[in-house]
Amino acid sequence: MLTTHSISPAPPISRRSLDQLEGEIINLSQQLNVTEYEFLVLIREFDIRQGWKAWLFNNCAEWLNFKCGMSLGTAREKVRVALALYDLPQCSAAFKAGNLSYSKARALSRCANPRNESELLSYSLRATAAQVEAHCHQLRNAQRRQSTTDANQVHNARYLRRFEHDDGSITLSAQLPKETGDLVMKAIEIAAAALQSGAAKSANANTDANKISPPADTDAFFRQQADALVHLAQAFLTGGESRSSTADHYQVMVHVDESALRDDGGKSDLPIESVRRIACDASLVTVVENESGDPLNVGRKTRVVSPPMKRALLGRDKCCRFPGCSHDTWLDAHHVMHWADGGDTSMDNTLLLCSTHHRLLHEGGFTIQKNFAGEWYFRNSDGKALPQYPAPAQSQRPNSADSPNPSRDGYPLPAECCAHDEINAEKDPDTHHSWKRSGHPPF
Ligand SMILES: [Zn+2]
Ligand SMILES: [Zn+2]
Repeated sequence: MLTTHSISPAPPISRRSLDQLEGEIINLSQQLNVTEYEFLVLIREFDIRQGWKAWLFNNCAEWLNFKCGMSLGTAREKVRVALALYDLPQCSAAFKAGNLSYSKARALSRCANPRNESELLSYSLRATAAQVEAHCHQLRNAQRRQSTTDANQVHNARYLRRFEHDDGSITLSAQLPKETGDLVMKAIEIAAAALQSGAAKSANANTDANKISPPADTDAFFRQQADALVHLAQAFLTGGESRSSTADHYQVMVHVDESALRDDGGKSDLPIESVRRIACDASLVTVVENESGDPLNVGRKTRVVSPPMKRALLGRDKCCRFPGCSHDTWLDAHHVMHWADGGDTSMDNTLLLCSTHHRLLHEGGFTIQKNFAGEWYFRNSDGKALPQYPAPAQSQRPNSADSPNPSRDGYPLPAECCAHDEINAEKDPDTHHSWKRSGHPPF
């Protein structure tokens, strides 16, 4: 037998004024901050004392998931933030007093250290949580070690999946690093414009095909994006009409402080080693900004590696210079000593790499050095020299045709020295650069 109790719902509108309501919400959120801080302190102690081991869990996050009903991702973040706050006494004090929210504390815990804690906390108490999140993200991107780890995680998490539905449709789902995702979306944008331009031409010969009007509504926009993706695939399979487009159509914009490029702090839109990779072979626009980020001066766009030099590199290298790689399209000109560190954009300091191996040279921790015969050779992230096989076409490379190969067992001997110049550019924290990267060689 079931007994039902009628519970009259609380009226959704109280007699409070909006000012009162707002004040109560703010007060309560501060109390929640205080409680959240106490909660994190308890979690930290429980984790340090490994209380979760008694329940045969692998870590504290799993215990939180089981005992406190938290999702694993949330639980892992709580534990991470709790441990990080131990080294951030000023942030902890503000959090404990209710003045710092968990959202801000979580963002700060990703980039704050004893040197910048005071300044960051001061900024965070004045800014919105979204601003703090974005600011901390840019600061972390400029920290090479941490952001390279982030970049590799994002790179390894990339995927494209398809889900087939009963109604005969397919859902495509993709996850990409931001710079490559932007590249794909740029291509879709151009394909959509081409489609719309073609439709306008066929509908009315008098229509100005260059005038592209936006779709009427959101659904129409998404349909257009889907059509553009199909158009892109068709163009690729039929040889690619987009070949006639200029390289500028494939540009991706990245903002970075000059100091960040030199590993000297600052901010960056992307992990700094990814930016250095993109900037190896890119169009450059120098933008001087004030402290608010408003542009004061915009320079001319210049290519780091000129088209004639790129042709000369292609003539010399023929293909990717990584041992054993034969990719001969979509090659980047890699600066062995990055130009941001004072390296020349010269034939002696640049060589061609495919995108996979270019990435290894930056985010992957691989390096290039010269042996005493003046030949480039590669070392992996553990410092081990890579064998040069299959044998490259030595006669086509400068300085190598007549020189004996000094290596044994395919391992070139190391260079006598590998000097890295001091940074000779002036430090200017207000100078930002915008990089435009072409998706294919501009010739
Ligand atoms: Zn490079
Ligand atoms: Zn390669």
